[in-house]
Amino acid sequence: MGLKVVKFGGSSLASAEQFRKVADIIKSDENRRYVVASAPGKRFKGDFKITDMFYLIYDRVAAGDNIDTLFEEITGRYQEIADGLGIEISMEAEFSRIKNALYGMAGRDYAASRGEYLNSMLLAKYMGYDFIDAAEVIFFKQDGTFDAERTNTVLAERLKRHPYAVVPGFYGSMPNGTIKTFSRGGSDITGSILARAANAELYENWTDVSGFLMADPRVVDDPKVIETITYRELRELSYMGATVLHEDAIFPVQIAGIPINIKNTNIPEDPGTMIVSTSDKYDTKTIITGIAGKKGFSAIHIEKDMMNGEVGFTRKILSELEERNISFEHLPSGIDTMTIMLKTEDIAKIREDLIVDIRHSVHPDSIYIQDGIALIAVVGRAMVKAKGTAAKLFSAIAKADINVKMIDQGSDELNIILGIEEADFEKAMSAIYHEFVG
Ligand code: ASP
Repeated sequence: MGLKVVKFGGSSLASAEQFRKVADIIKSDENRRYVVASAPGKRFKGDFKITDMFYLIYDRVAAGDNIDTLFEEITGRYQEIADGLGIEISMEAEFSRIKNALYGMAGRDYAASRGEYLNSMLLAKYMGYDFIDAAEVIFFKQDGTFDAERTNTVLAERLKRHPYAVVPGFYGSMPNGTIKTFSRGGSDITGSILARAANAELYENWTDVSGFLMADPRVVDDPKVIETITYRELRELSYMGATVLHEDAIFPVQIAGIPINIKNTNIPEDPGTMIVSTSDKYDTKTIITGIAGKKGFSAIHIEKDMMNGEVGFTRKILSELEERNISFEHLPSGIDTMTIMLKTEDIAKIREDLIVDIRHSVHPDSIYIQDGIALIAVVGRAMVKAKGTAAKLFSAIAKADINVKMIDQGSDELNIILGIEEADFEKAMSAIYHEFVG
């Protein structure tokens, strides 16, 4: 077995008790040599995440308020973990350096990043691993985007000198040395970056669930865990609202073809979900891999006789959207009709103007906006091979007495997207799940 990069999320590192579980997991496999840590998360319902507390501290400093009490609360959480584990570490110097920097307006991202910085120091000390500050190995470009190639070169070189190391997740540095974070949940991205640089065989992402579920448990009772999913299927599902892993965490490992295994720190024996580049080695038992969906879409219906013969018709309409910097989701069309599906909130402020301008540019026979649409993505790599999937899907929907407003199937047959009324959303999700999964 080759090297593994392991990332632990906030709830996995929220207390001394959780740290012990993490240490047991790392020690039980000598290939787990590089560890990415999040900031301490919630220990119980209603608890505060350290990252949120650091954001709050930044706001307080900016407002000119005193931060002493809040800062003590944060340092108290770290001290409690250190004491609970019996780690001999003096963090006073770090704490006062951070406090001074916060008073010196070191920046919002700097403040937020200290959660993972301190937690990783603790974990490194507890494990006897080296600590590598992410600011020295993860880089952003001047325009704020992640500098993948520079990072990969510097990080790969650095890791050669540290066979066992802990690296804080979530942040890196700008060309001028200031700290910049990824978006929320970004430690997942750091783990993926490390896996690529270390040329790992596997990226294990440890969290508090046993993998991705086939459907949202708030909508479908007790959905099954997805055993294997391809990067592309996951993109489709995440886009439609399935969360567990940060969306951007896929790219670095995808380049290198490294699989990701989502695992549960509290039930380490559960196999979790494997995210892989191709499904060759991983057969699925079900035709569909997962279902996800979202409410809050609108459809602009456009009708015009002889539309299909009018060269440039679609371009003219789409340029009205482009000028307003609006992206659309789907564009199903007929001979003389076209529907543009987009997010209701994206057109909220400009809807009347948009309709007027489209009228001027293409002179349709009719045009109107319909709100209250939900989209459901039924995703499955096995759909390509299975005959009758669509028939099965639509008969389940019909049996549940649901009217379908839009259907879109990608040419790769990886997914079928349905547009239905928002009021039918939950019913439709359940009907589809039970039809395919049982
Ligand atoms: N601590 C950061 C957050 O709460 C990043 C992470 O946990 O991945 O968003």
